[in-house]
Amino acid sequence: MHPPILYIVVPCYNEQEVLPLTSGLFLEKLRQLTAAGKISEESRVLFVNDGSRDGTWDIIRRLSEEDEHFVGIAQSRNRGHQNAVLCGLMEAKDRCDITISIDCDGQDDLNAMDAMVDAYLSGCDIVYGVRSKRDTDTAFKRVTAEGFYRFLKAMGVEVVFNHADYRLMSARALQAFSGFREVNLFLRGMVPLVGFKSTSVYYERHERLAGESHYPLRKMLALAFDGITSLSVKPIRLITGFGLVVSLLAFFGMVWALIAHAAGHTVAGWASTACIVFFIGGVQCLFLGVIGEYIGKIYLEVKHRPRYIVAERTRGMEEKEAPRSGE
Ligand code: UDP
Ligand code: MG
Repeated sequence: MHPPILYIVVPCYNEQEVLPLTSGLFLEKLRQLTAAGKISEESRVLFVNDGSRDGTWDIIRRLSEEDEHFVGIAQSRNRGHQNAVLCGLMEAKDRCDITISIDCDGQDDLNAMDAMVDAYLSGCDIVYGVRSKRDTDTAFKRVTAEGFYRFLKAMGVEVVFNHADYRLMSARALQAFSGFREVNLFLRGMVPLVGFKSTSVYYERHERLAGESHYPLRKMLALAFDGITSLSVKPIRLITGFGLVVSLLAFFGMVWALIAHAAGHTVAGWASTACIVFFIGGVQCLFLGVIGEYIGKIYLEVKHRPRYIVAERTRGMEEKEAPRSGE
C-alpha cells in the first residue's frame, strides 16, 4: 500500500508576523513524516488566506514559489476561521487521502501529528487533537474556555471536551461531511455527526509564537451561540418546559384566586382579573414553546443534512458511482 497523501490545512488571517516562523515548522514536520514512510512525498501544506489585509498572501505566494510542498488559496474576502478551515478541507479532499487542520500560530503541538497519522493508519477516519492542559492560558481564558465546552454540552451540542479545530479527517470522512450543506458553521460540533471510527490524541497547547489572538471573549460567545443554535433545539425545549411550569403555577394561582373569592377576602373584580392574567401568562409561554418546536423542526429540515452515511460494505454491495452520501 502506498503511504497516504497528507494535506495540512492552515487558515491564516493577518498572520504576516507568525507565518515566516511557523511555515518552516510545518515543512519540517512534513519531511519527518515522509522520511518515516508514514505519508507520501506528494503531501502538501495548504494555506488558506482568509482575506488578510496585511502581507500574508504575499508570503504564501512566495513560499509556494520557493518550495513545491507549500500551496495556497485565497478566499475572496474575510469569512472567519470556520469558513476558512472548511474551504481548505473541501479543496483538499479530492487531492489527498488525509487532511489535518491546524492554526498557523504555532499554539498547537505539531508533534501530535505523528500520533494522528498512526491512528489513521490503524483504521480511524477522524482523530481529534485534545489539549491535555492549559497552563499557558491565562486563568480567565481557561475558565471561559472550559465553561464554553460545559455550556455547549448542557445545551445539547455534542463536542469533544477541549478539542478545537486541530483534527485529522480522512478523504472519505470529508466526502461524507460535504453533504452537510449548512451555512452556519461550527465544525467541532458538526464533525462528530459524521460518525466513522474516531479517537483522540492529547497534546499541550503553547502560547502564540507571534501576533495576536483573533478570538476575544466577544467572538468566543458568538461562536458558542452559533454552535448551540445551529446544532441543537434544546433551547426551544427549555422554553416549552418553562411554559409548562408556568401554566401549572397559573392553574394553582387560579384555584387560589377562586378560593379567596369564595371566602370573601377580595375586592370585587380581583379574582376574575387575576385568573385572566394567570391564564394568559401560562398559556402563552406554553404555546410559544409549541410553535418553537415546529420552527426547530423546520430549521433542521432546511439544512438538508445527509440522512445516512455508509461506512462499510460487503461483497455484492460495492459502491455504484462516485462516493455518495444519502441525500
Ligand atoms: N483566522 C482566520 N480567519 C479569521 C480569524 C482567524 O482564518 O477571521 C485564523 C488565524 O489566522 C489562526 C486561526 O484562525 O490560524 C485561529 O485564530 P487565533 O489564533 O487568533 O485564535 P485563538 O487561538 O486565540 O483562539
Ligand atoms: Mg491561536
